[in-house]
Amino acid sequence: MKYGYFDEDCELCEAARFTHWYYEDEICWIADCEACSTPMVVWKSHGTEPEPGEVDWMLERLTQVGLDRFGEGVASVDRTMRQVPDHFHAHLRDPHWLSRRWLEAPSKYSGVGGTRQFLK
Ligand SMILES: [Zn+2]
Ligand SMILES: [Zn+2]
Repeated sequence: MKYGYFDEDCELCEAARFTHWYYEDEICWIADCEACSTPMVVWKSHGTEPEPGEVDWMLERLTQVGLDRFGEGVASVDRTMRQVPDHFHAHLRDPHWLSRRWLEAPSKYSGVGGTRQFLK
């Protein structure tokens, strides 16, 4: 990784590409969270304190992904870091996120951006 810190025991640092990836740049990546199938932005550095400008950038990108997937005013940013409290990330949750993981097949990685594809 050319940017920031890396913790080899951290699943967000590992950044495994299993689910759909919406977006990636030098600051962050956005993919479906493996646990809840909602878009999740992850800082490309291990830690909890990105610069304020980086936080704004990441949340703007996440909000844009949500607009494309859910439409306007449907989903909201959830910055609570439950599972990985020591690496900055944020979820975008729509009202159906809880039931979706039981009703919908998980998405799969098919390159960054493009159409969301699902595991059969
Ligand atoms: Zn999640
Ligand atoms: Zn990490």
